Amino acid sequence: MSYQNPVFIPGPTNIPEVIRKACDMPTIDHRSPAFARIFKPAVAGVKAVLGTRDGEIILFPSTGTGGWEAAITNTLSPGDTILAARFGMFSHRWIDMCQRHGLKAQIIETPWGEGAPLEAIEAALAADTAHRIRAVLATHNETATGVKSDIAGIRRAMDRTGHPAMLFVDGVSSIGSMPFEMDRWGVDIAVAGSQKGFMLPAGLAILGLSKKAVAAMETATLPRTFFDFRDMQKSYAAGGYPYTPAVGLINGLSTAVQMLQDEGLDKVYARHRRIAEGVRRAVAAWGMRPCAATPDLYSDTVTAVVVPDGFNGTEVVSLAASKYGMAFGVGLGEVAGKVFRIGHLGSLTDAMMLSGLATAEMCMADLGYPITLGSGVAAAQEYYRKTAGETARAA
Ligand code: PLP
Repeated sequence: MSYQNPVFIPGPTNIPEVIRKACDMPTIDHRSPAFARIFKPAVAGVKAVLGTRDGEIILFPSTGTGGWEAAITNTLSPGDTILAARFGMFSHRWIDMCQRHGLKAQIIETPWGEGAPLEAIEAALAADTAHRIRAVLATHNETATGVKSDIAGIRRAMDRTGHPAMLFVDGVSSIGSMPFEMDRWGVDIAVAGSQKGFMLPAGLAILGLSKKAVAAMETATLPRTFFDFRDMQKSYAAGGYPYTPAVGLINGLSTAVQMLQDEGLDKVYARHRRIAEGVRRAVAAWGMRPCAATPDLYSDTVTAVVVPDGFNGTEVVSLAASKYGMAFGVGLGEVAGKVFRIGHLGSLTDAMMLSGLATAEMCMADLGYPITLGSGVAAAQEYYRKTAGETARAA
């Protein structure tokens, strides 16, 4: 077994040494004041990253999927309606989870490669004069297709219709890497996981709750025990957890949020934008295109590269792993085989990214793709050379 780094999957991401060491700590009594000293700065830092002042932060030992479940079970009741657009694997899975919980899903089917359709969302809300829709679910960054959606635009659409639904946002592959403004966008629940922008191992579901979401908890009747916000709130007030917390991960989270704030969140986002743009220039130099339909939809954390007809993107990923010891992401669901995904989020520098692009080129050349070795790397190098220093940092 070999462990290769860096990885270019769209999460889990590369773990900086200082974060890895922060996670690796001796056992402490999680019911002692020592735990509160670890927990409090982690929560304060998460608030800053989520862009919330008044929101409540809840950290479950779980993953992003658990965060989805916590969001819906704490605020909704069987038979309630949610509105969501389906345009990729992750938006699909959250919808599927709602249906399995006995919720009615009003689905706006949207082509994969596009983002949340603002006009259709607004029309659906405007038509819902009885206010049956209790929550609008939005996937901020669809990791399957490398598409970002306009959450502020969804909020504006909701406000224009005067609809009282809550807004739940999956920010699993955006938060900590792309601008996220929970308060400004009027997000009622934001869901993140530890293993992407926070640069930690998987194991924490990270949620931000608005006052409206907290109030909804009082009347929601979907069953929940492990994920009950009320148990968490009670225990947090006493400085602890209702069960055993993932202390090492929370200690790592403290370090991660400190790192993000030390670099400066704006700089973190600019670094991601810049590295992503270099990847996109490489893709264009290969004569290929991102799955995202238009530039305004391009994700700064993952690019799903559409492979030419007659090729299978999964083979690029398999060859990269078997021959070059490098990890890229396969296409999922509708775009399986049609794309391979380059993750470019978390702890990453230009030089790291160039190594990923160079390896992708070697794989494609090995597989007979009509590309010129070095073309994508050169395009990215040109862009990185011109823009270096704008967001310089130590990874
Ligand atoms: N949402 C998005 C956008 C994701 O990318 C992922 C995982 O990749 C999830 C949700 C699910 O998160 P997890 O795998 O941490 O349960």
